[in-house]
Amino acid sequence: MIKKVKGTQDLLDMKSYDAVHQLAYRHFSAAHFTHIQTPILEHLALFKRSVGEETDIVGKEMYTFSTNDREEFCLRPEATASTMRAYFEAAITAKPWQVFSHGPMFRHERPQKGRWRQFSQFNLEAIGINSIAQDARFISLLDDFFTRVLNLKDYVISVNYLGNKEDRAAHKQALKIFLDAHMHEICATCQTRATSNMLRIFDCKNEQCQALYTKAPYLTDHLSPESNAQWQELNYLLDVLSVNRVHNPLLVRGLDYYNNVVFEFSSPLLGAQSTFCGGGQYDLAAAFEHKEALPSIGAAIGMERLLLLLEAAGNPHPMQAPAPIFGILPFDDSLNPLALLAHQTLHRTGLSTDFITGGIKKGMKKANASGIRWLVLIGDQEKVDGVVRVKDMVSGNETTVSQEVLSIYAQSLI
Ligand code: ATP
Ligand code: MG
Repeated sequence: MIKKVKGTQDLLDMKSYDAVHQLAYRHFSAAHFTHIQTPILEHLALFKRSVGEETDIVGKEMYTFSTNDREEFCLRPEATASTMRAYFEAAITAKPWQVFSHGPMFRHERPQKGRWRQFSQFNLEAIGINSIAQDARFISLLDDFFTRVLNLKDYVISVNYLGNKEDRAAHKQALKIFLDAHMHEICATCQTRATSNMLRIFDCKNEQCQALYTKAPYLTDHLSPESNAQWQELNYLLDVLSVNRVHNPLLVRGLDYYNNVVFEFSSPLLGAQSTFCGGGQYDLAAAFEHKEALPSIGAAIGMERLLLLLEAAGNPHPMQAPAPIFGILPFDDSLNPLALLAHQTLHRTGLSTDFITGGIKKGMKKANASGIRWLVLIGDQEKVDGVVRVKDMVSGNETTVSQEVLSIYAQSLI
C-alpha cells in the first residue's frame, strides 16, 4: 500500500484547527489586516535572494525542482518573501499594507514532534511601517491573541534588538575577536559561519555552542545611541501595554532579513520544538531592486505547534462546543422516504443532523458510537400514527412528537 510521504500528516479531524483559524481570522481582521493568498509554487530565486543563501531554510531545507532546463521552482518554505513579491508585483502603494495569509509550507528537515516537512503557518505582515509604536502594537496584538482569545498562559515572549547594519558591523568586530579565541570549541557549521555569515552562529542548535555563546558580546551592547533609544522606547511601550517578555540577547532568528526588533513566543509545554510563533522587523526592498527603504514587520504562527500547545494546556480556548447532533433512524428501508424528509427538514432549519442506516439494532450502536445526542426513531407504527419518537441518548427518555412539529420540538431542545 502506498503510504504518506515522510514528514507529512493526514489531519483527520480539523475541528480544532478550523476553530483556531477562525479565531485568528476574526482577531486580526478586527485589527485592520486583510486576508490574502499567494501561491505555494514560487521561483527558487525568490527565496535565495530574500531569505538568504546561508540560512538553514535556503541552504538545506528547500524542496526544489525544474520542469525544463531554464527555470527552477520550489515549494514555498515561508510566506514573507512571497508577500513582498506580491506587494511589488501588484505595485501596491498602501503603506502600511497590513495582511495575513495562511497555508502549507515545506521544509526538508528531520521529522520529529512539532517538526514536519509540510506544516501550516498563519502569517502576518505589516509592510511599510516605520515606527516603534507599530512594532509594539504588532507584538501586543499577537500576545492578546494567545492570552485573551486562546486563553493560553504558559508561554514566554523573548525579544531582542538587532539594530541596523552599522550597529551589527560594530558588534561583528567584537564577536570576531571572541570567536577567534574560541574557534576550536565550536562546531564545524559555526566555524564556517564565523567567516561567511557570523550572526547565524547564534542559530546553532548544538548545546556546547549555545553554552559558549551566552558569554559572547551582546548586540544590544553595540547599538548606536539612536538605535539604543529605539530599543528603550520599544521596551517602554511594551510595558505600557503590559506585554510580559524577557530579553534574550542571543535571539537572531533563522532568516537573514531581520533588522531591529526580533521576537519569539515559546512554551515549555511543547518540549524540544518550543517556539510556536516568531517574527521581527525586516526590509526586503533591496532584494526586489527597490531603491527606497521599506521597513516592515511580520510574524508566523506555526499552526501545528500552536495546536499541540492548546492540547497540552487542556484546550482553554472558547472553541465552540460541537453542536448537539440529531440522528434520524428509520427501522427499515421502506421508511427511508419519511426519514429522509425528516432529515431534510431538520438540516434545513440549521440543526446538525445525521442519517443512520442499518436498521434498529445496528443503528442504535452506530448512534451511540458517533456521539448522537438525540435519536429520531421512525418505525412502521410511527408512520401510521404520523409521529416520531425522539430518544434522549443521555437520559434514555423518549418523547413522541407529531411529524409536523418535529423541527420546532428539535429547536426547543437546544
Ligand atoms: P525552528 O527554530 O523551530 O526551526 P524557525 O526559526 O525555522 O523555527 P520560522 O521560520 O520562524 O521557524 O517559522 C515560524 C514558525 O513556524 C515556527 O516558530 C514554528 O512554530 C513553525 N515551524 C517552522 N518550521 C516548522 C516545521 N518544520 N514543522 C512545524 N512547524 C514549523
Ligand atoms: Mg527551522
